[in-house]
Amino acid sequence: MEPVLELRGVGYSYHSLGGETETLRDICFSIQPGEFVSLVGPSGCGKSTLLSLICGLLRPEQGEILIQGARVGYMLQKDHLLEWRSVYRNAVLGLEMAHQLTPEAEARVRQMLDTYGLSGFAEAHPSQLSGGMRQRAALIRTLALEPDLLLLDEPFSALDYQTRLEVGDDIGSIIRREGKTALLVTHDLAEAISLGSRVIVLTSRPAKVKCIVPVTFAAEADGTRLSPLERRNAPEFSSYFQQIWREVREHG
Ligand code: ADP
Repeated sequence: MEPVLELRGVGYSYHSLGGETETLRDICFSIQPGEFVSLVGPSGCGKSTLLSLICGLLRPEQGEILIQGARVGYMLQKDHLLEWRSVYRNAVLGLEMAHQLTPEAEARVRQMLDTYGLSGFAEAHPSQLSGGMRQRAALIRTLALEPDLLLLDEPFSALDYQTRLEVGDDIGSIIRREGKTALLVTHDLAEAISLGSRVIVLTSRPAKVKCIVPVTFAAEADGTRLSPLERRNAPEFSSYFQQIWREVREHG
């Protein structure tokens, strides 16, 4: 199968009057259709730079980035819902902007609002929703455009700890249920392990791929999918946590 995303030897430096900051060096990895991959690394190593390259805001100086299908969707720390629009009007905003608000697309959005417990709030305004419901509405807005690849940039980090767990669980389950291909950037190792099928660990700057840890659970061997919360309680979880924690902390 062709990967949805492939990075081949990607390198990038920031240039300023003060000199050059080499940020990424020889980054190689790929993501297969339907995979949910987490990316972690020390703070300031270049994770956001990597996402900016993948979404085309920056161009790689070395190497290349190949994306199957042109549609990339994002989820960011802030949900960026428009307060003066209803939940439904927010959910169709991307479609409206892309001139793709067909009756079929509207039906798809209504269906997702229903499936994910927001149909009763379709005419409510974002301020009437909980933090978790807001993130769900933002996700539906992104999914409405049927992206081939979802980029998640610390999407839960603005939430308090308890909400973060619940919303991470919720959003992760929705993305997996919809069969979406996703790359999650996070500094939260537990989140990375509970959501990803692989965890890519970057070194400190200039970031290189230090290792890629496949995350497998015995309880998933027969094809059962554990929820992110069930993964956190699985016996393998703490050894993955320790292994990845060591990799992130070790320099080089
Ligand atoms: P992370 O997301 O892993 O915390 P970033 O990608 O934001 O890391 O930043 C990586 C490095 O690049 C940091 O050392 C940061 O100071 C530097 N950097 C980020 N943006 C710029 C910029 N616009 N100009 C110069 N240096 C930058």
